[in-house]
Amino acid sequence: MSIFVVGHKNPDTDSICSALGYAALKQAMGEDAVAIRCGEVNKETCYALDYFKVEEPKLVEKLSEKQQVIQVDHNEAGQAIDGLDKAELLEIIDHHRFGGLTTAAPLYVHTEPVGCTATIVANMFWDNDIKMPKEIAGLLLSAILSDTVLYKSPTCTDMDKDAAEHLADIAGVELKEYGLAMLKAGAGVGDLTPLQIAKTDSKPFSFGSYKALVSQISVTDTSEVLDMKDDILAAMKEICDKEGFNIIMLMVTDIIDEATDLVYYGEPKQLIADAFGKDVSGDYIHLPGVMSRKKQIVPQLTEAAAKF
Ligand code: MG
Ligand code: MG
Ligand code: MG
Repeated sequence: MSIFVVGHKNPDTDSICSALGYAALKQAMGEDAVAIRCGEVNKETCYALDYFKVEEPKLVEKLSEKQQVIQVDHNEAGQAIDGLDKAELLEIIDHHRFGGLTTAAPLYVHTEPVGCTATIVANMFWDNDIKMPKEIAGLLLSAILSDTVLYKSPTCTDMDKDAAEHLADIAGVELKEYGLAMLKAGAGVGDLTPLQIAKTDSKPFSFGSYKALVSQISVTDTSEVLDMKDDILAAMKEICDKEGFNIIMLMVTDIIDEATDLVYYGEPKQLIADAFGKDVSGDYIHLPGVMSRKKQIVPQLTEAAAKF
């Protein structure tokens, strides 16, 4: 049976495209690997897949026992495909913090503190002298431009930029023009319901003893989300009640203004006050310059929880 390459639940462009890219690399190296996904493909990723004419990976909701699997773009158990605990985890290729990783057996782990998993995957092609298909270059480029928000995120490194420029050459696209079109295709609320908005690109975390969900939606105008704030807060309450979270945060990130309005529901709100030094008596706080959950939200909450 093929080795599965899979990104996190609620997959973003990096989780889909790095899985496709890494599976292609493995195949080129003579291994039987195939990309899968464990959630719906978002609007932005659809744009990239359509543009480069690549089929979306097959949906697998739960791994069967002993299935061999490679994780890309995540390592935290709460973000992983169901059934991973009984599967055989062979490798992790990632660019996130380690969130309590324990494994049954030794494995190959390749993580780097770069802006995108696709940067690591692209360099693995080049380090191994493997010719990269044009459409794979396009997908890896899409992932980098997505995760770094066109280089604007503080997570973006020179390695990401170097890889992206090289990938744009191989893919034959104008980097900025393509990237903006892709980001715009994924931005905004469109016809999403308040519940879907509250769960956009969501990831569960533990901050101290608190169970938290941190979601993120990209927009070009925050008012389109803030105008629906009351309905979104009601949806957040529903998620807390049903799924046992203490607190939910929705990052409404303006990709043009480079700022985030953080909408929150649940307790303890003081955690948010401590993390960001803001008055939390309202329903949201404005965080200028904040675009990255990984660098500008999660570490601050982790640190505040440690002192709680
Ligand atoms: Mg991701
Ligand atoms: Mg990523
Ligand atoms: Mg992301």
